[in-house]
Amino acid sequence: MKFAAFNWNGFKSIGRVLETEKVVERFELPIENYENDGVTFLIDRELPSCVETIPLEKITLLAPIPRPSRNIFCVGKNYHEHAKEFSSSGFDSSASKGTVPKSPIVFSKLPETVIGSGQPVLIDKNVSDAVDYEVELAVIIGKPGKNISQDKTLDHVWGFTIVNDVTARDLQGQHSQWLIGKSQDTFCPMGPWVVTADEINLNDTPIKCWINGELRQDSNTNQLIFDIPEIIAAISNGITLKKGDVIATGTPAGVGIGFKPPRYLKPGDQTRLEIKGIGVLENPVKGL
Ligand code: MG
Repeated sequence: MKFAAFNWNGFKSIGRVLETEKVVERFELPIENYENDGVTFLIDRELPSCVETIPLEKITLLAPIPRPSRNIFCVGKNYHEHAKEFSSSGFDSSASKGTVPKSPIVFSKLPETVIGSGQPVLIDKNVSDAVDYEVELAVIIGKPGKNISQDKTLDHVWGFTIVNDVTARDLQGQHSQWLIGKSQDTFCPMGPWVVTADEINLNDTPIKCWINGELRQDSNTNQLIFDIPEIIAAISNGITLKKGDVIATGTPAGVGIGFKPPRYLKPGDQTRLEIKGIGVLENPVKGL
């Protein structure tokens, strides 16, 4: 199933997307449920009743989880070809410089970075002139857990969405730790909605990104260095994962710093991220 958050007639709502019919079934829910939890309100609940069916083209999508309850966990250098391009870019301040990491590199983005499909990524040229895109498969935790063994990790996954791990490369390199470069306002487009875990084949899911219609990233989740069970086992090692936690699993090759000279985002650009089985996340880029 696919669950979206959206604006309809001036109200924030949650509903179930029926893609072939190109409609969304709006649930009978108070607005607080969207603002507090987004679609994760639906975890472990019976589906609320549908009050009306609306054509998809008539709604304005919102981020499916507008404000995660804590930082988004992110994995760096987690596709083989991207690990190579990042290491040769000059911005790699990680301990595994020049090599494939031995354990997942985990950093985080602030919850306030999240925006929905269609909302602008804002670039302040006084802060950074090296803003990059990264298409990523994001895991949404449904069942809390700590010290989760790899063979049990998928029991804890409720669903998946797409995240653009937008990054100020200059700040990422300058500060060694990645939080500032990864957590600029608007630097986490998320969406277009969430799909439940049963809809994704983690061993063979194409993942792509276009900038202004040009295909830049074109890979598959079978190219991950650390797969989803390894990532969840590593993060939950001493940390209790909570319902609604989001884990962005890393980006494939083809980001802006992979080109010589680098091809960064600029105002007027359009990003289009697609993961098979989930959908398409599109955002314009604007200058401040
Ligand atoms: Mg990333």
